[in-house]
Amino acid sequence: MSAPARPVLLNPGPVTLSDNVRAALARTDLCHREPEFAELQARLRRQLLHVYELDPATWAAVLLTGSGTAAVEAMIVSCVPADGRLLVVENGVYGERVSAIATAAGIEHASVTVPWGESPDTDSIDRLLAAQPFTHVAVVHHETTTGRLNNLEPLAESCRRHGAVMLLDGVSSFGAEDIAFDRWPLAACAATANKCLHGVPGTAFVIARRDTLERAPSPPRSVYLNLAAYLTAQDRDGTPFTQSVQTFYALDAALDEFFAAGGWRARRQLFRDRMATIRGHLLAHGIEAMLGADETSCVLHAFRLPAGLDYATLHDHLKARGFIIYAGQGQLATSAFRISAMGDITRNDIARLLAAFDDILP
Ligand SMILES: *Cc1c(COP(=O)(O)O)cnc(C)c1O
Repeated sequence: MSAPARPVLLNPGPVTLSDNVRAALARTDLCHREPEFAELQARLRRQLLHVYELDPATWAAVLLTGSGTAAVEAMIVSCVPADGRLLVVENGVYGERVSAIATAAGIEHASVTVPWGESPDTDSIDRLLAAQPFTHVAVVHHETTTGRLNNLEPLAESCRRHGAVMLLDGVSSFGAEDIAFDRWPLAACAATANKCLHGVPGTAFVIARRDTLERAPSPPRSVYLNLAAYLTAQDRDGTPFTQSVQTFYALDAALDEFFAAGGWRARRQLFRDRMATIRGHLLAHGIEAMLGADETSCVLHAFRLPAGLDYATLHDHLKARGFIIYAGQGQLATSAFRISAMGDITRNDIARLLAAFDDILP
């Protein structure tokens, strides 16, 4: 069986592009010091705030050239002041990465860890916040390692009670899950163009409170990932460094499609519907989901490999039919697989995917 011409990416970013987003990559060449670029950058910054209807007097979108990790690292090194103390909530690879970023940057921090897949331990977090003066709590919203959508309500409540603010890794939730900028004590949220927003990899961004970046450490902990410098330059329609112009074009087209389709609520419903179809089909084949549907994000679900089927065999079978799934990470590499519902995929793609599973599952 030959693979269809258009591969369908079911990995958690980059995503299958729409024709419009792909065509945007071929727009005219543009120098990042020209007014046309300034206009494009300003429009993207406005639109990104508009995703969650944020007030530009309080919030700023800061655009960076890099993958999602660049945005997370920029957020951590720029938002924790020199005398700040950071508590990192870990229940998967991405929480662990935040701790690695804090260690590399020499930021005073502690971590609260639970096994991958479990919910953050909000009681110990609350006790730690009560016992020690932490200024910031970093947490991953959708922990893509396992698909868990961390419930941030109790954490937000603890932070508020103990006077800490939150730094959110929203890389795999921004644009499709509810991020309560008005309810949670957020200082900043890091995200990327190429996950729920359906752009291409290369542009990432941080939505930060302006007053947070006024207290950015000086001297900065990083030259390239200094959000305060980006904010100053971008507020003056400039950029400290060359941006990935074509990726900006693609994000511009992707945001037009995003708003035309009804914004983050519509996208959440779309992803939920896709995942419910796929999950229901796999469960009917006796495949076990790692987490309950009610604790999993709309973006990605993790499943256990059935006895007698290894990941490589499943992956290669699906790839030959045009579908790219994703392995478990680290300790889950040999026992799990993940399927994400992001990107420009059709009902027909999903029907073909289910048929491809029928051919290999018991
Ligand atoms: C994808 C992702 C990142 C960033 O990964 P990159 O490979 O740098 O794009 C960060 N956090 C979470 C939760 C993610 O899903």
